[in-house]
Amino acid sequence: MNTYGSLRNGLLMKSFFTHLECTYCGKIHSSSEPQRLCVDCGKVLYPRYDLESARKIFTKEVLPYRQSNMWRYFEMMPILDEKNVVTLGEGFTPIFDMPSLGEKLGSSNLFLKDEGINPTASFKARGLSAAVSKAKELGLKRLTMPSAGNAAGAMSSYAARAGIDAYVFMPKDAPEANQVEVYFTGGDLNLIDGLISDAGIISRQKAGEMDLFDVSTLQEPYRVEGKKTMGYEIAEQFNWELPDAIIYPTGGGTGIVGMWKAFQEMEDLGWIDGSRPRMYAVQSDGCAPIVRAFENGDEFAEPWENANTFAAGIRVPGAIGDYLILGAIRESQGAALAVSDQDILSMMKTVASSEGMFICPEGAATAVALTQLMSRGSIGSDERVLLLNTGSGLKYLDLLRDTQSNLTGNTG
Ligand SMILES: *Cc1c(COP(=O)(O)O)cnc(C)c1O
Ligand SMILES: [Zn+2]
Repeated sequence: MNTYGSLRNGLLMKSFFTHLECTYCGKIHSSSEPQRLCVDCGKVLYPRYDLESARKIFTKEVLPYRQSNMWRYFEMMPILDEKNVVTLGEGFTPIFDMPSLGEKLGSSNLFLKDEGINPTASFKARGLSAAVSKAKELGLKRLTMPSAGNAAGAMSSYAARAGIDAYVFMPKDAPEANQVEVYFTGGDLNLIDGLISDAGIISRQKAGEMDLFDVSTLQEPYRVEGKKTMGYEIAEQFNWELPDAIIYPTGGGTGIVGMWKAFQEMEDLGWIDGSRPRMYAVQSDGCAPIVRAFENGDEFAEPWENANTFAAGIRVPGAIGDYLILGAIRESQGAALAVSDQDILSMMKTVASSEGMFICPEGAATAVALTQLMSRGSIGSDERVLLLNTGSGLKYLDLLRDTQSNLTGNTG
């Protein structure tokens, strides 16, 4: 059954996806078979589209007639046959104005895009909807991944819907919600005594031994296409005038580089002009490899030792797309900055009590970063600022309970 046909509203949709290109050396790779990293230099591959042709046919005027999910941008998605789309309704999340929080922080033009209302309660749904759809199109039957938490829940959910097997390698102290989610959706859950980077080593080893396809973020080319749709939505929802600044909680960095890719594509499609937001990457001061590399002026980021933060989604000591993240930040005249867990926790309370949104720690980190950027003079009080809340606070109840008692010194 094609449960997805209504998206077309009688119009034929055609993807303009053509090939994969290495983001570092430019080598072209075929997209008709499974690919991971560049075969020459080991760096990240990006899907590329025939933007010349798309420009003539895919106009933004068609968008209001499409369904409210990320597949409304099908022409710029890497799936060739609509029947292969595996969807749970991800994307097209609302952007809210934040008057009370803005007043508290001294920002009169503050907005938040709430990714917490996605299926699986985080924006990982976007990336995994895209990657699992493409895996289905390529005939892959067994997927594996290391995950700090939310990606695992999303992969296991989308794989279940696609009838594909999912293997997950997750730190044993990842949020309980993610573990339970994988268990219920039928994924093969393996808890690791270590960090996501350790889980990655095991996942890749199992991939070799058991013929699994590893969908680690940015180590396969399609998750970024799901996350880039945030960039399309931000443009569409702000009526094709991007905000002055976007503040993003950065782990593997797929979202920030995905949005940057979307801005370029939309410029090439003639949908937006060349003015882009300044991109700010936020990390926890307990795991801040991108911040360190940014401050040192480095092209790549050294892995962070002893990564530690309760913001599980950004507890990522090393990112394969480090050069892409740093490139987007620098090109946009943005910055990378670190915030403390203590400030994240109290900001969660501030946001929830002032705006009624129980956002995730990673999302709260962006609001803490805003206060720093404003006091440094990097962001002005009337600039249009967009915070990305990447998940729901409800996925972190166990960590919040522990963190709260640690931070307040309450052992009971
Ligand atoms: C994975 C995750 C992040 C980090 O996303 P990247 O795009 O990989 O940098 C941030 N917040 C949450 C809630 C996450 O699950
Ligand atoms: Zn290459």
